[in-house]
Amino acid sequence: MSDRQVEHFAQILNDWKSQLMVEVDRTVNHMQDEAANFPDPADRASQEEEFSLELRTRDRERKLIKKIEKTLGRLEEGDYGFCDGCGVEIGIRRLEARPTATLCIDCKTLAEIKEKQLGH
Ligand SMILES: [Zn+2]
Repeated sequence: MSDRQVEHFAQILNDWKSQLMVEVDRTVNHMQDEAANFPDPADRASQEEEFSLELRTRDRERKLIKKIEKTLGRLEEGDYGFCDGCGVEIGIRRLEARPTATLCIDCKTLAEIKEKQLGH
């Protein structure tokens, strides 16, 4: 991968990360603003449901941020873009579509087949 490509992907990953961090902040603020005590149990229940959905979303976003940070680390170490499974280059096109990919398309397909066989 050329320096320009490394820079290109660092840019994509950093932009993605800041976008997610804004989302996480927004969720926290939203929940603080909305945390009212509704006298009606039905209202309370729907609020709780909404909050638990937001918490799950936030959890997903946090995990994604961690993954992006890890990917940025690999980028710095010159380890980015190589398959964890077989060591080949993942390929720019696949990375463009999925900048946090750690497996080439062959290993990814294989992993998905195995996952299905295990019934997950
Ligand atoms: Zn592979």
